[in-house]
Amino acid sequence: MQNTGSVALEVAMELRYLPWNPTSPVRQRWTNVGLRDDRVELTYRQFDAWVEAFAEQLAENGFGRGQVLAIVLPNRVELLVAMFAAWRLGGAVTPVNPAFTETEANYQIADSGASLVVTLGPGVSVAGRPAIHVDDMRTNRLREAQPPAAVSGDDLALLIYTSGSTGKPKGVLLDHRHAEVMSATMARHLRLTENDHCLLILPLFHVNAIMVSVLAPLRCGGEVSIVGQFSAGKFFDQVERLRPTYFSAVPTIYAVLAALPESVRPDVSSLRFVICGAAPVSRELLVRLRERYGFEVVEGYGLTEGTCASACNPVDGVRKIGTVGPALPGQEIRIMGPDGSFLPPGEDGEVVIAGPTVMRGYLNRPEATAETIVDGWLHTGDIGRLDDDGYLTIVDRLKDMIIRGGENIYPKEIEAVLATVEDVLESAVVGRPDDIYGEIPVAYVSVYPGSTITEDQLLDHCRRHLTRAKLPERVYIVDALPKNPVGKIDKPALRRNLSTQAA
Ligand code: AMP
Repeated sequence: MQNTGSVALEVAMELRYLPWNPTSPVRQRWTNVGLRDDRVELTYRQFDAWVEAFAEQLAENGFGRGQVLAIVLPNRVELLVAMFAAWRLGGAVTPVNPAFTETEANYQIADSGASLVVTLGPGVSVAGRPAIHVDDMRTNRLREAQPPAAVSGDDLALLIYTSGSTGKPKGVLLDHRHAEVMSATMARHLRLTENDHCLLILPLFHVNAIMVSVLAPLRCGGEVSIVGQFSAGKFFDQVERLRPTYFSAVPTIYAVLAALPESVRPDVSSLRFVICGAAPVSRELLVRLRERYGFEVVEGYGLTEGTCASACNPVDGVRKIGTVGPALPGQEIRIMGPDGSFLPPGEDGEVVIAGPTVMRGYLNRPEATAETIVDGWLHTGDIGRLDDDGYLTIVDRLKDMIIRGGENIYPKEIEAVLATVEDVLESAVVGRPDDIYGEIPVAYVSVYPGSTITEDQLLDHCRRHLTRAKLPERVYIVDALPKNPVGKIDKPALRRNLSTQAA
């Protein structure tokens, strides 16, 4: 692993994304705006003062080093104040999806071992823990400031729960070293400077939002605008008003933007680039976005277990559309065959990742950790291939592979065929359980507004481009595909839907 360089590890110990760190570039930008949402705007100095005040309050509530703070809030400035305050005391944070049901929220809060919860108000599930409500958050210190705890790279920073499409969600242990290396790597890769301004639209319980949209720009002294939940109707107004230089989003959001009426012609001249990741996106959608809006979409790939991004197309180098780019500096990506050997370029196998951003492990799940990180390689469960230049193409997820009569079928191949039909906005192929074949592919498709295409026409199109075994048994046109909280297509929900249809 000659690549997993010492540079990254040296950077790790600086923890420059913590604004109170004397080496942080933010110190020179103290009086500039760092953060805003639709209620408040904070300079770095004001942000730091609020973090200090809330840290004082947390400490009075018994919170300190080694403890976990659960934060159950929608995206707003207070969420980041609470996060940095916990870090200031040497504690860690588990961000909880505010839309969770009581059962889901209680599970994460209890599983994470959180000792205290920050919530919107009474009535929010806190698994019996003491809670501080957002309106009661202290904004000014009552006493003399305490020096920040000496936080080391090996201290736990974040416990992020993965979407958990199978089994119960697991807490991914990410230390300050992980956050430092990832935020520094992305800041460099995206050429971020103090002049950059990120529009934060992804939810902060997802690692991508924390790393790419918050820590990376803040560590450079840039700006972050929090705009609450993504809304198609308001989005471009926000871009025109706030003039961000970039944002990071998931394919679903881009699909919504691509489907806006032709009359929507926003001024997006402030954007240097936009990032797409977290789920597969069709090449056609990316091309359409570029032609329609003129912005460059940089596609990247990663997973929570790898602290967000492991591969990413460059902003100012060779971008290969349809690939997720080369491995990020300091990380290594290989393709592994079923026998554990490394495969050469061009061959499909499991994507494995090594480097300083591979998680410490899953909280309290040594077996799951040992299955996922083997000899230092993080097994992603994704099938991919590298080209001769090291650019990675994600073929599919191992878990989503359909086995029809012993033949392996990658749903993404069928989805790619459907995507070449102009009318198709998004598609998802899943396996229907079948007594004879084991599984048979079935396609769900959403189409652009105004389209008159029929299910039979889509099936005909598949017939022309796919061999019999890969041919979906049916193509269903639906209003919208089900999505998980981060906006990824929820294939388990489609499978459940199929089994209830069959029953
Ligand atoms: P999460 O940890 O919830 O972010 O999920 C990580 C998973 O999302 C990966 O293992 C991939 O299956 C998928 N993923 C992330 N980025 C991409 C991408 N650019 N293309 C295809 N799949 C992706």
